[in-house]
Amino acid sequence: MQHITIARGDGIGPEIMAATLSILEAAGAKLTYDEIEVGEKVYLQGHKTGITPESWAVLQRNKIFLKAPITTPQGGGFNSLNVTIRKTLGLFASVRPCKSYAPFIPSHFPALDLVIIRENEEDLYAGIEHQQTSEVVQCLKLISRPGCEKIIRYAFEYARANSRKEVVCMSKDNIMKMTDGLFHHLFNEIATEYPEITTRHLIIDIGSALLADRPESFQVIVTLNLYGDIISDIAAEVAGSVGLGGSSNIGLDFAMFEAIHGSAPDIAGKGIANPSGLLNGACMMLTHIGQNKVAERIQNAWLKTLEDGIHTGDISSPEYTKKRVGTQAFAEAVIAHLGQKPSFLRSVNLDDGKGIQIIAPPYRPIPKTLVGIDIFLDWSDADRKASVLGKALESLQIEGFHFKMLSNRGVGVYPDTIDGIFCSDHWRARFMADKAVHNNDINRLLQTLYENGYDVIKTENLYDFAGKRAYSLSQGE
Ligand code: NAD
Repeated sequence: MQHITIARGDGIGPEIMAATLSILEAAGAKLTYDEIEVGEKVYLQGHKTGITPESWAVLQRNKIFLKAPITTPQGGGFNSLNVTIRKTLGLFASVRPCKSYAPFIPSHFPALDLVIIRENEEDLYAGIEHQQTSEVVQCLKLISRPGCEKIIRYAFEYARANSRKEVVCMSKDNIMKMTDGLFHHLFNEIATEYPEITTRHLIIDIGSALLADRPESFQVIVTLNLYGDIISDIAAEVAGSVGLGGSSNIGLDFAMFEAIHGSAPDIAGKGIANPSGLLNGACMMLTHIGQNKVAERIQNAWLKTLEDGIHTGDISSPEYTKKRVGTQAFAEAVIAHLGQKPSFLRSVNLDDGKGIQIIAPPYRPIPKTLVGIDIFLDWSDADRKASVLGKALESLQIEGFHFKMLSNRGVGVYPDTIDGIFCSDHWRARFMADKAVHNNDINRLLQTLYENGYDVIKTENLYDFAGKRAYSLSQGE
């Protein structure tokens, strides 16, 4: 017996949750649950994240969460409940299967059957943004080695557990050689532990184009947070089954399961919503907690129900629908089909066994040496000439450092000055160390700049890690 937390959510949430729970019970899922309230009502009571402290305690105790969609009230500075839950419970993997059920549900890609495994905690979504000058704002892209290792290993374990033959990595490491480069490098490294699985790497732009054009050519895709966010929607759209998809958010200790779609307020209370998305999310949950055979029974009954033409309004078609039903009648039809398998669609066959377990990667410190510093300046004179600023910085005498170059928005503009290039008021001055230096030497350098009237807005230390350069060169450097 597994004790879980459920939330019935907003809009169609309570209807599809009731239908899903009735199927789980009829199929013999060994579940007991605590119920919490999340979403619109809780937001409007003044809880900015849509959840109360008491409910947090329940989530943390039970560890497994089946959540119906919620409505986020418009305006008013409310924080996304999903983002809060992901970040607080360390749900590093977003797993979104996309599948076509053609011909019963029309799709341009009848053979489509892929899973997107998206990193969920890092990348530009860390939400660290600053305005630094009158003209420039920044967003920090943070990628960690353990973060990459967890998601990549999860993708390979997922492929292995689900008999998928290939894992494709998508990144943009031709441009972001260090952040996306780390992801790609670790993908190659971890792949060697899974010799039975073939691998491919695609740059995210061509990868997205191929996904939209030939989605059947993918089985499992693993990628970083931002790219995963975008390609998950592309894949769901081309699959033509947004209303049917479930998704999971998996952490080392916690996991949350839900439907892809929202709370559909336009049809709430009418008893016509399709419960399939939440049901598929619930089946992912059953697999995660080791009740694989129950998930298999439900999914086969559900596929047979689709084949028999018993459909809710959103998926009905003159050709394939024999009986158009509401939410509860659809659930009853799935229950009536328990024990049956589809005849046309591929049946689901899940092995026994516990869900995928990932362990936290150990801390592996690498020796580092401080070799210089990038100092960012807010600077603008009437002409805003790189040569004026560059020459002035060059003339400063700072013991232990020499001025190396000036760049503007990543393009080297001094000493090799490019005339006519637009420069913002946000400059990077690179100073390299002439000898072994420490942070107190940097303080001295900053003090000199301050005394000479420069407005330092931030700094980035330049390190060699294990003797290797661990910072990017500017374009033209
Ligand atoms: P939506 O997914 O709720 O609805 C889009 C369209 O699909 C609507 O026409 C709706 O009737 C239909 N639809 C969705 N699910 C259906 C189902 N199961 N059966 C039949 N038809 C279905 O998207 P939206 O209208 O953009 O968002 C509504 C609310 O849901 C918003 O407040 C949004 O913030 C929230 N939302 C929540 C989640 C979540 O909790 N995970 C996810 C997405 C959106």
